[in-house]
Amino acid sequence: MLEASLKEECGVCGVFGHRDAGHLVYLGLTSLQHRGQESAGIVSWNGRMNRHAGMGLVFDVFKKENLQTLRGHAAIGHVRYSTHGSSVIKNAQPLLVSTPYGQVAVGHNGNFTNAEILKKKLELGGAIYQTTTDTEIILHLIAKSKKNNLPEAILHSLKRVEGAYSLLFACDRDSHNKPGSMMIAVRDPYGFRPLVLGRLGSSWVVASETCAFDLIGAKTEREIEPGEMIIIENNRNYKSVRLAERPTRSSMCIFEFIYFARPDSKIFGKSVYEVRRELGRQLAREAPPPPNIHSVIAVPDSSVVAALGYAEQARLPFEIGFIRSHYVGRTFIEPSKPMRDFRARIKYNPIRESLKGKSVVLIDDSIVRGTTSRKLIRMLRDAGVNQIHMRISSPPIVGSCYYGIDTPTTSELIASSHSVKQIRDFIGVDSLSYLSIEGMLRAAKGSTNQYCVSCFSGKYLTKIYQEESGKQS
Ligand code: AMP
Repeated sequence: MLEASLKEECGVCGVFGHRDAGHLVYLGLTSLQHRGQESAGIVSWNGRMNRHAGMGLVFDVFKKENLQTLRGHAAIGHVRYSTHGSSVIKNAQPLLVSTPYGQVAVGHNGNFTNAEILKKKLELGGAIYQTTTDTEIILHLIAKSKKNNLPEAILHSLKRVEGAYSLLFACDRDSHNKPGSMMIAVRDPYGFRPLVLGRLGSSWVVASETCAFDLIGAKTEREIEPGEMIIIENNRNYKSVRLAERPTRSSMCIFEFIYFARPDSKIFGKSVYEVRRELGRQLAREAPPPPNIHSVIAVPDSSVVAALGYAEQARLPFEIGFIRSHYVGRTFIEPSKPMRDFRARIKYNPIRESLKGKSVVLIDDSIVRGTTSRKLIRMLRDAGVNQIHMRISSPPIVGSCYYGIDTPTTSELIASSHSVKQIRDFIGVDSLSYLSIEGMLRAAKGSTNQYCVSCFSGKYLTKIYQEESGKQS
């Protein structure tokens, strides 16, 4: 049975033409930490390539002595989070290998939807894998491509890859395959994941989100377009090349606006803050509060901006209902015999003083399995809240994401098998409403010809090899 490709969420950052490139990438990665908290890595180059990667948060992985080894005028970095069993150091990126085009490093944000097929074909041809990432596949394809230089090899290899990719390459040769230096950034033809180009003085910078630029004082030059490859070999200019595949539409992930990207970033040409706030306003238009509501509260932090938009549109005060602990990672050790349900409690605690006896609208950006919402509602009830009317600033998630957001399998998504009324009863709220797909697109000022809404529609642009059935769809 073919498995769907590994689920992972990632962020990439690169700097070219700066004597502190390694350190700047390190700083950039800290701004992209929300895109992956499991491993982090940097490759820098100064004639030879230097690599340091490890498990954990950026601040944990890189100590002073590691940063001192990351010398050179250019560097690329990566943060990663992945599901099931693949949480191992060998999968930390950027990957670094020797190829016919010199030493090549790569960091990837996205998912190749045909990864397993490519992997099996390459294995039959003798490929031996060092990691379980789909990123390694592109390196095998490049190594086998028999082209004149790395940009040609990448273009050739990407013809065989389907799905989502924002890739950042480093190479110790130039585009004539001579000793030199090159950084290459590529976005898939549909532009599923963001990738932006910036300037820091005379240096070039590339990152998944512009919040990385703000930290290091870089200015956004422009988005790297869907289907565009940018080759940087010197500080003056870059070369832009189109990938072979030219779809008539794009498919930018709308969930970046809803949940994933940071509100202080500009991606897909729009401010995440403005779109997220408008999602809240639109939700209030579609699903206004019932009478006699005291306040609007949010599930922090990702829903706060949408809740502000909702409160503004509904002319209700916004209150802080929960405090979220920022010191809890994705994994923590639970007591073996839980005395109570720690998993949600360790992250969120309600503020009784702002809640007791009140009727509230609770905003969350999404319901995935429904388990967090259920626990949060129980906490609110324990805190003495009167009525809870839940409003979700996205439509029901009915399909798993195969394009770079870590969502569980479709059968684990509560909305794939339960009606809104059933979900309302399961999580225990007085009323529940979601934003419509149309309303969501209106808030993002786009259409289904621009944005990927697969997790909300259950329809996928590319062929998917289903985890559950092994069938293609
Ligand atoms: P659940 O209990 O599975 O319904 O989780 C819902 C919560 O997960 C919401 O508060 C979302 O903000 C959050 N969420 C949505 N997508 C993701 C994701 N890909 N990774 C982690 N949390 C998420």
